[in-house]
Order: sequence, then structure tokens, then C-alpha cells
Amino acid sequence: MSFSQSWIERGNASIATTYGRYPLVVAKGEGCWLWDVDGRRYLDFLAGVAVNNLGHCHPKVVAALQQQAATLLHCSNYYHIPSQIRLAELLCQHSFADRVFFCNSGAEANEAAMKLVRKHSAERYGDNRYIVITALASFHGRTIGTISATGQEAVRKGFTPVVPGFRYVPFGDIAAMRDAVTEQVCAVMLEPVQGEGGVNVAPPGYLQAVRELCDAHNLLLVFDEVQVGCGRTGKLFAYQHDAVAPDIMTLAKALAGGPPIGAMLAREEVAASFTPGSHGSTFGGNPLITSAALAALDVLINEGVLDNCVAMGGYLRQRLEELCQRHDCAIEVRGRGLILGLQLNIEGAPLVKKALERGLLINCTAGKVLRFVPPLTVSRAEIDAALAILEPLFEEITAEE
Ligand SMILES: *Cc1c(COP(=O)(O)O)cnc(C)c1O
Repeated sequence: MSFSQSWIERGNASIATTYGRYPLVVAKGEGCWLWDVDGRRYLDFLAGVAVNNLGHCHPKVVAALQQQAATLLHCSNYYHIPSQIRLAELLCQHSFADRVFFCNSGAEANEAAMKLVRKHSAERYGDNRYIVITALASFHGRTIGTISATGQEAVRKGFTPVVPGFRYVPFGDIAAMRDAVTEQVCAVMLEPVQGEGGVNVAPPGYLQAVRELCDAHNLLLVFDEVQVGCGRTGKLFAYQHDAVAPDIMTLAKALAGGPPIGAMLAREEVAASFTPGSHGSTFGGNPLITSAALAALDVLINEGVLDNCVAMGGYLRQRLEELCQRHDCAIEVRGRGLILGLQLNIEGAPLVKKALERGLLINCTAGKVLRFVPPLTVSRAEIDAALAILEPLFEEITAEE
């Protein structure tokens, strides 16, 4: 029995059954590559689901972690933490925001945002104005609060009653959003590009129109940039493409270059609704992870990573569009920068499985969309290598038909 098979059997016997896992047991990573415990190499175009934006084990992130690990791992938020302060300053300097709350995941960042919009509204308009409008096909996390916010019936099944106070509208439909606004609504929460929902980019003018609607009704606008922030779309934050600033933005996945982190950023007037005791997190903003995030952001901002994302995003898009022209089962390419979705008219799962067998990691969202979120440091040669694995799979499928 291979090392992989043995680990898979042990995992199947001891790990909670929350994931349908592919038969890959990961041993190590470097750049855009992963190795399994039997020494096989894989080209990683999933990148931990848009976490490893700088590739695996970026040397500057690793060095920051090593140095901080030997200096101070953890201390309480009862005290001031220099790396946390520096990270907050840097995030504010590069965004619309004035203040940052740190936590440990995307779901937690969205929980913080949902608590903040409720408190901000309650202070101004009383207790009966608490509804948050979110989009159908959105994804905001897996806690009871964030499955309540997520506009997908499937994630709530078996977990009802969920948290009341959410209203879902079709993404991109401003008329539907306008109809959903009532006296009880306090905020709108959207992903500028829906990731899990099938890589859906906000149509031109939509975010602007949502901003105007929010302003007209004193609603707070929250952007969930957990997946598409931190350079994924070719700008530091996805909202910058539309020049529409939110009041609150959540970040997580790639922010620390690999290790777990979450952050909620807000404008001063909004952030002020949180007072001592309103919210907190034991590990949020700890020295270890915020040191890693400082190193990761420094690389992201100062080492040409965004330019590479734009250039390689354009190249990958072109290669995928060529694939659409040659194969009837591939319909269109959506996305921005290096979050790209290939819409198929067949199920994507068998293709993902075959790609893995041949050494390419991708995944499938919304059933028929192949999602490509490689490290933003990916090279042209690596994209060519990925397509050299992918294209024959389409040829085989066409031949099977
Ligand atoms: C991944 C994701 C989340 C949840 O993040 P976790 O760290 O898994 O809690 C929330 N929103 C979006 C848009 C995501 O992609």
C-alpha cells in the first residue's frame, strides 16, 4: 500500500466527514507546486482556494514566521501588539478604511461585519432595523450567522432555524435590490466577484448603483472580499476596479500569505459603534500571524505581484477562451485577474478528478464551472503546463460523446 493510501484510510477513520476529499495526501509545497507523500508533483491552480496568493512557502513569509515564532507567539488583546498596529496602518493606508478588527477566518470577519451593521443601525434607528440584503449564489461562511447570510438554500438545510434578518436578491439585478429595501433594512452585503457561486463578476455599473441606493436609504454597504481581496483580481482590492468604496470590507484567505487570519475594515464613523466589550477574539491579530501578513502584504504591494496577476490573468483567460472555441462543452470564461471560471455545459467534477490524476489541481464550483485561482506569482510556462494537461481532457470528452 502506498503512503497516500495508508493516510487516506486513517483519515477516513478519524477525521470529521465534512469534506469530500480528493485522493491526494499533501506533503510539501513550493511556489505553484505541491508534492504528495509518495513524491508526486502537482501544479496547484487552486492555491488553497485563493489562500496561497504568493505561492506555497514564500521565503519572506516563512522568514517572518520563523523570526516571530522565536520572539513572541501570542499575547492577549488586553495589550497593544506592534505587528497588529502596523498591519492595521498598512491596510488603512491602502484602502478606504480607518480602522481594522482582526480575527482568524473569513466567516469570523463577516460575523464582525454583521454585528457592526446591526449595532450601528440600532444606535441610530432603533432595534427594528436589522435586515441585511445579500445576493443569491453568494457565500459568506459556515457559521450559523454566515450560513444565514449566504444566499444558497443548500447550506442551511438541516440547520434551521437560522439567524433571522436576511433577504436575498439576484446578483447584478439593481431593480430587485431596490424592491428589497424596506424600513427594516440596515445594510447590503455583497462579494464584488462571487467566488463559490460560480465566478460571477458584478455587471458594469451595478456596484455604483448599489452604492447610490445605500446612500439614499442610509444603508451600510459591506463588501465581502475574503476571496477576491488581497490582489486576486489584479488590484489590491476588488472594489477598486469599480471605484466604489464600501463602508465595511472583510478580508481573510490570502491576507497572511498562508496562515489563518481574518480582518474587518471600516470607516471611522461606522467603526465607532464598536466600543470596548462589543466584540473580540482571543487569537485575532496575534503577533505571529500579523507578522506573516506584514511580510505578505509587503511582497504583494512592492514586488510586482499585481502586475504579474494582470498579465498572467490575461494570458490564462486567452488560453481558456481558445479552449472554448475548440470545444462545444466549454461555453465562456468569466472572472477578473487570476480568479477565472470556465463555464461548461457538462458537470465539472469528472474533469477535476482527471486533472488531478495527471498532476493539475483545479476545482469546480456551482456544478459546471471550473475555477482557476493559481498563485498570483504563476508564470507563463506554468500556465502552458496547466493547459497541456487540461486541453487533452477536453479532447477525450469530445471523443467520448
Ligand atoms: C472562503 C470565503 C468565506 C469564508 O471564509 P472561512 O475562512 O472559510 O471562514 C467567506 N466569504 C467568501 C467570499 C469566501 O470565499
